[in-house]
Amino acid sequence: MITSMTPQSTDKPSDHVPVAKPYLWGREKEYLCAALDEGWISSHGRFLDEFEKRFSEIVGVRYALSASSGTAALHLALDALQVREGDEVIVPDFTMMAPVFAVIYCGAKPVPVDVDATWTLDPERIEEAITPRTRGIIAVHTYGHPARMDVISEIARRRGLFVLEDAAESHGAEVFGRQVGTFGDAAVYSFYANKIVTTGEGGILVTNRQDIHNRAAAKKNMCFGPSAEARFDHTDVGFNYRMTNLQAAVGVAQLEYFDAAVKQKIEIADCYRRELADIGGLQMPPSAPWARNVYWVFGILIDKAFGCDRDTLERELASAAIETRRFFVPVHQQRWMSMEHRAIPIASDLSRRGLYLPSFIGMGEGTIRRIADAIRRIGAR
Ligand SMILES: *Cc1c(COP(=O)(O)O)cnc(C)c1O
Repeated sequence: MITSMTPQSTDKPSDHVPVAKPYLWGREKEYLCAALDEGWISSHGRFLDEFEKRFSEIVGVRYALSASSGTAALHLALDALQVREGDEVIVPDFTMMAPVFAVIYCGAKPVPVDVDATWTLDPERIEEAITPRTRGIIAVHTYGHPARMDVISEIARRRGLFVLEDAAESHGAEVFGRQVGTFGDAAVYSFYANKIVTTGEGGILVTNRQDIHNRAAAKKNMCFGPSAEARFDHTDVGFNYRMTNLQAAVGVAQLEYFDAAVKQKIEIADCYRRELADIGGLQMPPSAPWARNVYWVFGILIDKAFGCDRDTLERELASAAIETRRFFVPVHQQRWMSMEHRAIPIASDLSRRGLYLPSFIGMGEGTIRRIADAIRRIGAR
């Protein structure tokens, strides 16, 4: 049972079903209006303070620094970890590209490593990619499934590398009962409109390391000088990566329902698993015994045994007014990545056969059943 059925449920058989949409739990408008009424519409204000404090408490880390986007938070994190030109950073080959771009913003080289059956960085492939130039590892918790952080952290510790967690798709995911975002030297989250909690656009950098927090806080806000008199004597080259109090007002309202949001995502996934169970030729998303997958999206792989290939299924669902998304194109296949081709088979295979289905808070069981029925019909043709 999906616990909170809402008026937003799209259960009419003819309705267009989007692949994602934001869900507003209730207080967003109230807090946003308060921020407007109080006149704090830019990058200072009580909602920003509250948002950062609440988020650090939810994850269980000392510092949380809001940012204008998840991508900005990634850039700040790598900059604070002092990634520079000539450095190499290990990234999963199968990922959303923001963490890879952030490595490139720093002038460093992303080194893609294949993923494993969890669709996240394969710890067994990391060591062969380490060179004297390697500075760190970015672990991405893709589609809601956490990377194997205990093992990755141990490799990093042994080899003297940093670990940055990209938890943009995995608010509340866990490894052996411990929340993601607490394993690495730092972690980032995104609050884009399709993420599990949203501020419209926005991101955050969390860490227990004061040095990382302080460096990132300065860079985020232009590296202004340390006093009023010295304000325009900048201490370094800074960025403007600030979140606004208006975004944070929406975020504070969203965080009141953090647990409920994560729970709904998991319930949607459970419902899909039940409804799709009798259809042959489909592979369900990973769920390792040590992991709490929060199912940011519900991704499936289309096997040969299914009645048609991924692209046909995508097209047929679209004509049934059901929107889906293909999986990521691997890093090593991106046109701007010039690299000698090692075989990266799993990421390549996921990219060819993967499709994710609509998943948004407020989605009714009827909609999931309708999607499953459409898939069953298309496969049987
Ligand atoms: C969404 C996302 C980001 C980027 O977040 P933005 O807020 O859109 O900049 C980074 N990493 C991953 C894995 C994401 O899914």
